[in-house]
Amino acid sequence: MLHGLMMDYPLTLSTIVEHANRMTPRKTIKTKLPHGGWHEYSYADFCGRVRRLGNVLERLGVAPGDRVATFAWNNYQHLECYFSIPGAGAVIHTLNIRLSQEQLKFIIDHAEDKVIIVDGSLLPLIKPIADQLKTVEHFVVFNHDDSQPIDLPNLSFYEDLMAAAGADYEWRCADENMALGLCYTSGTTGMPKGVLYSHRSMMLHTLGVLQAAALGPTEADVVLPVVPQFHAMAWGLPYACAWVGATIIMPGPHLQPEPLAQMIESERVSIAAGVPTIWNGLYHELRQNPRDISSITQLVVGGSAMPRGLIEAYERDLHVNVVHAWGMTELSPIGSVAKLQTQHQALDAAGRWDIKAKQGYFVPGVDARIIGEDGSELPWDGATMGELQVRGYWVAGQYFKLEDDPDHFTDDGWFRTGDVVTIDANGYMTITDRTKDLVKSGGEWISSVDLENMLMSHPDVREAAVIAIADETWGERPLAVLVPLEGDCDEAALNAWLLQHFPKFWLPDRYVTVADIPKTGVGKMDKKLLRQWVADGEWG
Ligand code: ADP
Repeated sequence: MLHGLMMDYPLTLSTIVEHANRMTPRKTIKTKLPHGGWHEYSYADFCGRVRRLGNVLERLGVAPGDRVATFAWNNYQHLECYFSIPGAGAVIHTLNIRLSQEQLKFIIDHAEDKVIIVDGSLLPLIKPIADQLKTVEHFVVFNHDDSQPIDLPNLSFYEDLMAAAGADYEWRCADENMALGLCYTSGTTGMPKGVLYSHRSMMLHTLGVLQAAALGPTEADVVLPVVPQFHAMAWGLPYACAWVGATIIMPGPHLQPEPLAQMIESERVSIAAGVPTIWNGLYHELRQNPRDISSITQLVVGGSAMPRGLIEAYERDLHVNVVHAWGMTELSPIGSVAKLQTQHQALDAAGRWDIKAKQGYFVPGVDARIIGEDGSELPWDGATMGELQVRGYWVAGQYFKLEDDPDHFTDDGWFRTGDVVTIDANGYMTITDRTKDLVKSGGEWISSVDLENMLMSHPDVREAAVIAIADETWGERPLAVLVPLEGDCDEAALNAWLLQHFPKFWLPDRYVTVADIPKTGVGKMDKKLLRQWVADGEWG
């Protein structure tokens, strides 16, 4: 074999920091502070502090391979951690601040975190378990309220440590196969499982995100990651934005519709990324209190299905371009994007929204197939449903500390996503459900996601979740949990609405109304809890 003769240049994260420092030192990163006002600094300042934090970690005794956890909102210190921890050869473990104490304890012990870097405003959430953690040697706090004493073992303050640390720094991440980050799945369908990214996989993922076919942020963009940094690495935006020197706007704890609308308007945000729940709230806010959000070129949405009705509402009423994407923690997370292609140019608006409501084409770097219940590969005809399996440069090969796992990884090198999908002849994928959420009625599958989307496109419905309830005759039947826009929803009208699109046996056996649909730590409808409510006899 004749080998290529190119440099063996490692795919390591320090490249991004050095590049940003040289190429875009004057571009800025802004953070909305907890009590209002902004923190703003340049990329040059940011890169300097990233190196300083590397020295801080070394002083704390962090060695290559150690896990250093963060427990924080999206802000500049968290961004510094994103680069310094892997830069020091250690592994950034982003803890989900919305998990229960029990889940947090499980995850921290499982990851064997050595240090936890905590946002001051979140101390009350971590304090109750602080004494029970088996491996944690240090807590480091930033953004704390000076007037409040903090009662934590082995505590130090981020800014004090930074002030005492040297400015010169030598990166400790020369090997691209070193672990870079650890992120646990949010546990929507089971116990959280850890995904351990390497420098190599994350750098390739970053290049993947930077493709125009994916999200493609450039230097000219102003990017607002509303998606938390603890949710699948904020979808790779921190690394991608820094590499090209895009302006980054960090929302801190201000994730409510009103401050988000204000931020988009005042900062002239061009790319904003978040889950459907966030954009649902923002839409209703903007309808009540209109603002100029014309700066947006891509409203990126993923994490769960963006209802077609909401895509249409954004595009029709607010002239906002919605970019629907699918991803998973196991994919770092970008898998597919529903941007339009040349073939769609002749479509009318409704046709375009149909395409945008799909989960989209696989981005270059991700390979996919559909597998049927008998293990055979299924056709890409837009109709045949089966389990989606993927492989690629940034797809997990196994979970952390979980070997021999045929439920999730196949013998021939594919990851089993647990999503049930169709893929059309042009490669556009549509998720019909997660395997665990499908309603199996009399041997037929009913897609809870399709029912939810159609219900949410009805003018009287604000939110809808569909779950399976046990049924003696059919095995399972659908139950619809609704949040009406106001007053009550008329069941007969909803059934008539659904019947325009689905067979009669898809109609929910029951409708129940709630004030809010419970959400998981990353803002997905918590169907596990809804099923629990049914088991507890909540609705008789
Ligand atoms: P968890 O597995 O704990 O929910 P993830 O955030 O990794 O945590 O979730 C990945 C899953 O989220 C996917 O397998 C899929 O079911 C769902 N998902 C992500 N993006 C979309 C989307 N655009 N449409 C529908 N479902 C999505």
